[in-house]
Amino acid sequence: MRVSVDKDVCACTGTCALIAPEVFAIENHSELVVLDPEPVDDTLRDLVVEAAEQCPTGAIEITE
Ligand code: SF4
Repeated sequence: MRVSVDKDVCACTGTCALIAPEVFAIENHSELVVLDPEPVDDTLRDLVVEAAEQCPTGAIEITE
């Protein structure tokens, strides 16, 4: 799976970084980064899906 974040849509709430810190992080207090190089390890799939579902702005896109 691959994951990307639309930075124009992301509100930097940090929700995804709390759910899946192996993949997402907030840097410099205001910039969301995807840490894990693509493709994301399948063992993290459930966490990434949950992060996308919980993202309040729908900024996370998952593709297979
Ligand atoms: S949960 Fe969504 S809005 Fe919040 S930091 Fe992550 S991508 Fe951005």
